[in-house]
Amino acid sequence: MPRLSIVAEGVVQGVGMRPFVYRAALEHALVGWVKNERSALRIEAQGERARLHAFLKDLEARCPSPARVARIAVTEIDERAELDFRIVASAADGAVRPVLPPDLAVCAACAEEIATPGARRFRYPFTNCTSCGPRLTIVETLPYDRARTSMKSFAMCAACQTEHDDPNDRRFHAQPIACPACGPALELLSKGGVRLARGDEALACAVACVVRGEVLALKGLGGFQLLVDATCSEAVSGLRTRKRREAKPFAVLFSSPAEVRRYCILSLAEERVLASHEAPILLLARGGAHLAPLVAPGNPRIGAMLPATPLHCLLVEGASRPLVCTSGNLSDEPMCIDTAEALERLRGIADVFLVHDRPIVRPMDDSVVRLDAEGLTVFRRARGLTPLGLRLPETTPTVLALGGQLKSTVALAMDGEIVVSQHLGDLHSLEGALLHERTVGDMLAFFGARPEVIACDLHPDYASTRLAERLSADLAVPLVRVQHHHAHVAACMAEHGLAGNVLGFAWDGAGYGVDGVLWGGETLVCEGHDFRRVAHLRPFALPGGDRAVREPRRAALGLLYEVFGADAVAHLGSMFSPAEGRAMVSMIERSVNTPRTTSVGRLFDAVAALSGLATHNHYEGEAAMALEHAAEGAGDQGGYPLPIRAGNPYVADWEPLVRALLRDTARRAPIGVISARFHEAFAGLAESVALRAGLDRVVLSGGCFQNAVLTRRVRDRLVARGLRVYTPGGYPSNDGGLSLGQALVAARWLRRTGGTDVPRGPR
Ligand code: ZN
Ligand code: ZN
Ligand code: FE
Repeated sequence: MPRLSIVAEGVVQGVGMRPFVYRAALEHALVGWVKNERSALRIEAQGERARLHAFLKDLEARCPSPARVARIAVTEIDERAELDFRIVASAADGAVRPVLPPDLAVCAACAEEIATPGARRFRYPFTNCTSCGPRLTIVETLPYDRARTSMKSFAMCAACQTEHDDPNDRRFHAQPIACPACGPALELLSKGGVRLARGDEALACAVACVVRGEVLALKGLGGFQLLVDATCSEAVSGLRTRKRREAKPFAVLFSSPAEVRRYCILSLAEERVLASHEAPILLLARGGAHLAPLVAPGNPRIGAMLPATPLHCLLVEGASRPLVCTSGNLSDEPMCIDTAEALERLRGIADVFLVHDRPIVRPMDDSVVRLDAEGLTVFRRARGLTPLGLRLPETTPTVLALGGQLKSTVALAMDGEIVVSQHLGDLHSLEGALLHERTVGDMLAFFGARPEVIACDLHPDYASTRLAERLSADLAVPLVRVQHHHAHVAACMAEHGLAGNVLGFAWDGAGYGVDGVLWGGETLVCEGHDFRRVAHLRPFALPGGDRAVREPRRAALGLLYEVFGADAVAHLGSMFSPAEGRAMVSMIERSVNTPRTTSVGRLFDAVAALSGLATHNHYEGEAAMALEHAAEGAGDQGGYPLPIRAGNPYVADWEPLVRALLRDTARRAPIGVISARFHEAFAGLAESVALRAGLDRVVLSGGCFQNAVLTRRVRDRLVARGLRVYTPGGYPSNDGGLSLGQALVAARWLRRTGGTDVPRGPR
């Protein structure tokens, strides 16, 4: 009888592959075994040749739905005397490319089970099976077995063990399974940490609290979350005050697609995204009934999600209304993952705490996505998506990339594959910086990796840069500082497997340029590990630096100062008091705390202020988003003039645009028209720069391309000229994508130079 050795790589652990292989082998009357290795699923199968063929076909075509077999290697080996097919214990060896599935949202079978009176797991919040349940948030090390997860302290009861051992059960070899008799349990705690109730009673009391309008802190899958009644104005405004989050939209948890449809417009394709294994927060247009106004003030969209765990199912169904579900933190700090920490840090926010005794190994936020004609766009990559890897078209050294300062992530490239960490958040707070550093250690340990090169941003003051400098010295490996916008373009190149030269438009808030100016309106030709700047926005002053990010009126003043000098204030109406205006102008004149910038994001802010939409940003991108929403449905209005001046690099001069815009605001043109003309000006700019550059592949990246109107208009213009346009989809175009781009650039640098020349650094 022929015998095959089969190695399957991809997402093959923790998704029911071994039981599936076992059943398939029995079906085809094969003998042999299957086991998890660090990096792969290894099978030896022996039987008639036709049956082996059919078995291989099944492996490719009939895998459990969360699994993704990326590669199968088959070799014929010597026959052995064997009588049966077995699942054998995991070996902690093998090559270093482990792949683990992300956390999987509760499946239909488990959802039904917890809703069935009399079932063993009726109303049990930690129900899961081989096709659903916690994975990355509970796994300590590989290979993936219960003993190496945070379920290790829960010994399976006899009934669970029987399910685990039965090849015909959907829990056959499911690692985290549990039931009320043997698994984790709920507790309800007061603010002071006193236990108020246990088990199902705790759940019922928590539901009652939310229905009364109180703030519930919930120990969820990947960290603490805060829940309130999304239909109750007082509850939502109370949460905003306590969390110190004025206006940034809250996500909303709905019990079913039907409930989503009562408040939002939901297509069938969008419903499939909501109900997928990833179960992300999906941005949907409002429609139908109203939620409390403060859920997403002034925003035409709602971030909607369906329950990702049985616990969330039971809560939202119990409350029989949509619930605000937001991360358990103060603004801009990371989520709490353990109870003692949550009781301390969320004391002033939550009224009660619903907790459990299954430890969370690493924090995991909810992912945020949008679906449009071009497909799925990921804004925040975390639960359900991390740690799926990305295959590159080339082999790579081992690279550790530390990302940026905002929306930070860490990336690890090994042997042609890149894994990007979950969204970690901002590094301004000590907690944020510590989480970032812990994640670096976690990833290196988890994947058993030893970096050959480390990459970071060019900005000397990012916490990620300082950590990179320290690690590079400790490990004695080279440090590659990758310019911010180069990394944005490279991230998109990595995602689409682009080699050779491409033209990249990197438009964003701001990043450190090689000349000390805050860049953000750049066109770069990127090739290999290097780039050349071919065009940028005409620079303008940003009085107050970082404060201007929070105050679009400052960007407006900086912009008008270039055109009108000290008279600029006269064009700004009541945006500044006379004293403020004078102080601001004097700041610009004396260049005090007034960097110069080429940022498209700040130009969006300035225009939002000049057209009366917003003088302040309560959260990043608020004014620019208002401008985007104003342009939706405004049709073709012709663009404002935004000419490029000859030079190397070319300079896009926004002065004619600003003058035309001021004429429009003076004659009180509708905001929709103004905004449409403004967006169209950038589409025209992209077109003329691209035609001059003469490359046929164009990448659009950077935070500004989260703007769907801008992206669509730019893409349409370029595609009409016969260019191929690439945009980020699976990885964020915002700073969450920086680590991915840095990793690619550093990998190419090391491969090209062998680590000999001096990498590009601050000049
Ligand atoms: Zn399930
Ligand atoms: Zn049990
Ligand atoms: Fe950026």
